[in-house]
Amino acid sequence: VIEIGQPEHSVITTCAYCGVGCTFKAEMRGNEVVRMVPWKDGKANRGHSCVKGRFAWGYASHKERILNPMIRESITDPWREVSWEEAIAHTASEFKRIQAKYGRLSIGGITSSRCTNEETFLVQKLIRGGFGNNNVDTCARVCHSPTGYGLSQTYGTSAGTQDFDSVEQSDVILLIGANPTDAHPVFGSRMKKRLREGAKLIVLDPRRIDLVRMPHVEASHHLPLRPGTNVAVLTALAHVVVTEGLADEHFVRERCDWDEFQDWAAFVADPRHSPEAISELCGVPAEDIRAAARLYAGGENGAIYYGLGVTEHSQGSTTVMAIANLAMATGNIGRPGVGVNPLRGQNNVQGACDMGSFPHEFSGYRHVSGDETRQLFESLWGVPLDSEPGLRIPNMLDAAVDGVFKGLYVQGEDILQSDPDTRHVAAGLAAMECVVVQDLFLNETANYAHVFLPGSTFLEKDGTFTNAERRIQRVRKVMPSKSGKADWEITLDLAHAMGFDMNYAHPSEIMDEIARLTPSFAGVSYAKLEAEGSVQWPCNEKAPLGTPVMHIDGFVRGRGRFMVTEYVATDERTGPRFPLLLTTGRILSQYNVGAQTRRTENVVWHGEDRLEIHPHDAEQRGVHDGQWVKLASRSGETSLRALITERVAPGVVYTTFHHPGTQANVVTTDFSDWATNCPEYKVTAVQVMPSNGP
Ligand code: SF4
Repeated sequence: VIEIGQPEHSVITTCAYCGVGCTFKAEMRGNEVVRMVPWKDGKANRGHSCVKGRFAWGYASHKERILNPMIRESITDPWREVSWEEAIAHTASEFKRIQAKYGRLSIGGITSSRCTNEETFLVQKLIRGGFGNNNVDTCARVCHSPTGYGLSQTYGTSAGTQDFDSVEQSDVILLIGANPTDAHPVFGSRMKKRLREGAKLIVLDPRRIDLVRMPHVEASHHLPLRPGTNVAVLTALAHVVVTEGLADEHFVRERCDWDEFQDWAAFVADPRHSPEAISELCGVPAEDIRAAARLYAGGENGAIYYGLGVTEHSQGSTTVMAIANLAMATGNIGRPGVGVNPLRGQNNVQGACDMGSFPHEFSGYRHVSGDETRQLFESLWGVPLDSEPGLRIPNMLDAAVDGVFKGLYVQGEDILQSDPDTRHVAAGLAAMECVVVQDLFLNETANYAHVFLPGSTFLEKDGTFTNAERRIQRVRKVMPSKSGKADWEITLDLAHAMGFDMNYAHPSEIMDEIARLTPSFAGVSYAKLEAEGSVQWPCNEKAPLGTPVMHIDGFVRGRGRFMVTEYVATDERTGPRFPLLLTTGRILSQYNVGAQTRRTENVVWHGEDRLEIHPHDAEQRGVHDGQWVKLASRSGETSLRALITERVAPGVVYTTFHHPGTQANVVTTDFSDWATNCPEYKVTAVQVMPSNGP
C-alpha cells in the first residue's frame, strides 16, 4: 500500500472497475486519497478487494489527465484550451448547425458503463429529448447486449437472476466463457471458497483458466471447446438432459410454457444434437459432454455463471437463450443456489442498460414504440419523443461513412480502441463534422474529436452504480472535481445550451426522476440507499427492500419461454492462410483497454500483452518463448511477443487487450451477433509467424 500520510477523514464509496461492485473506505488527507480500504460492510465484497480496486485512486491524479475543455476546428489542428462556457456553447451550436443542415437524425450519442446511473440517464434523456431522436447506444453494445436480448426473450428481463450470496448454496457450478479469478476477482474468491467446500465445477472454455486446476480446487470437467461452438455444446448438454430423462418436468409444467418446452425438447433430442454427433465439431469428447450434463442436471442446486466468452459471438444471443433453456429444463431457477448469472465486465454495465441507453428502449427495458410508456416520459419531460428506434453504434458509423450521420457525443468510451474493425471506426469518425469526447484522458477516439470535455473520476462525484447482481450502490464524492464539473453537470449544461430544459441540483434528484419513470426502480431513493447500504432491483411497492433472487414465484414475463437454438457456424473460418483461432480475455491486474490501470500502481504487474500459443503450434512455426511474432488475420495484423503454454489447445491462440500497442481490434473481424450487433471478438482466424518486433 502506498501511503502519503495519516488519514484525517474517510468516505465510503464503490469501486469503478468491474461488475462486482466492491465497497471501499477512501481514507483522505485533505483532498488527497491516502489509501482505499475494502469496507467490511460492503454487501458485494464483505471486506475483500482485488489488486485493481485497491490502487484505483491512482489514475485520478495522473499527470496525463486533461482538466480543461478544449476545441479545434479540424482534427489536424492543435487543441485550444477554452472555458467551460465556450466549450458547451460551441458544442451546442455545432450540433444545432448539423441538425439544421442534415436533419434531426444526423446526430447521436454513446453513454458509458463507467459513469453513474444518473449520468447515463441524463445522456439518453438529452438525446431523446434534446436531440429529438433515439440515436443513443452504450458500450454494453460490445459486451453484454446479447444478455439483454437473450434473457428478455426467455425470462422477461435483462439481468442476472441471483445475488452473489447465492453461490454459497450451489452444489454444481457451470462456468461458461468466464474467468472470474482474473476478471471478477472478489466474486471469484467466493466461488473458490464454495468449491473448496465441495461444490462441483464444470468449465466450458477454450482455455484452461485457473479454476480448472489450482490449489484445493479442481474442476470435475473442463470442456475445452473450439471457439465458436458454444451453441452446439449447450444443445448437446440439453440433448443429454432430455434423452436421459433428467429434465425437471414438474418445474417446467408449473412455471414454463409446456408446448414450447415440448417443441424445444423434440429439437434437442434429435440425434444430430447428440454429444457423439457434435464431438468432432467442438473438439470435446462425447463422454465428457455426457458426464457434464449428468452432473449439472443431477445436482441439487445447479448454477450457471457466464461472461463475454458467451456473448461476443455471432451467436451470442442464441447462446444466452441456450443457457436459459438449460436452467429452466433442469428446474434451476427461482431459489438460492441456482440461476443464470452474467458476470458483468464493467462497474455499471447493468445500470447503463437499465437506464435506457439502447436505441430501442426507455429505462426499465420498455420499447420506445409503446405509446403508454412514451407518453409517460413525454408528460414529465415536456417534449414529444420519437417512437422509432434509433441507430446502434455500428449503424451510426456506417451512416457516417455514408455521409448522413455527422455529430457524435461520446461519454466515457474509447470506441476507436474498444470497438471492432478499427479502420471502419476511424473512417466513420473522420467523416463526422463534430465529434465530442468526454473523458479523463486524450484517448484514441479523441484523435478524431473536435471538442474534448474533461470528465470526472468516480472519486469526484455523487451517484450510483448497479453491479452484476442488480445491486444499486452509492458512489460518494471524496474530493472536489479536478476539472470543475462532474459528468452529469456537463450533460446538464449541454442540454440547456441545446434549448432542452433539465434542472437538477443534485444527482439524488435525477434518481428521484428515474424512480418515477422506471417501475423496477420505483422504490429507490438516496434516503433508502443511505438507510439500507444498497438495494437490488426490482425495488418497488411489492419489494420495498429489493429482490436478491428473481423469478421465485413466476418469471417476469409470466411463463418461462423455451427458445429453439439452432447452431449456425460463424462465417469466420480457418483455412490454409489463417489456420489458428484467436480468442481474447483479461488478466487480474489490468482492466479493459487499460486506460485507468496503466495509470496506477497496477502497471508494474503487466507491462505488455502476450500471445499464448500451444507448444505444438509454436514448434511448427519456429516460434520461441518470448519471441516477437506477427499476428495476422483477414482484417489486419499486429505484433506481440509469444508465450508458449498448454493453457491453450493446439489450434487456438489467446491474448489480452490491455495495451493500446497490441491493437487486438485491428485483427478482429466485423462479424457480430445476429440479434444485437455485439462484435464477435472471441473468434478470429489468424496466422502467427516469427517477426523482428513492431
Ligand atoms: Fe472489486 Fe472488481 Fe474493483 Fe476488484 S475490480 S475491487 S473485484 S469491483
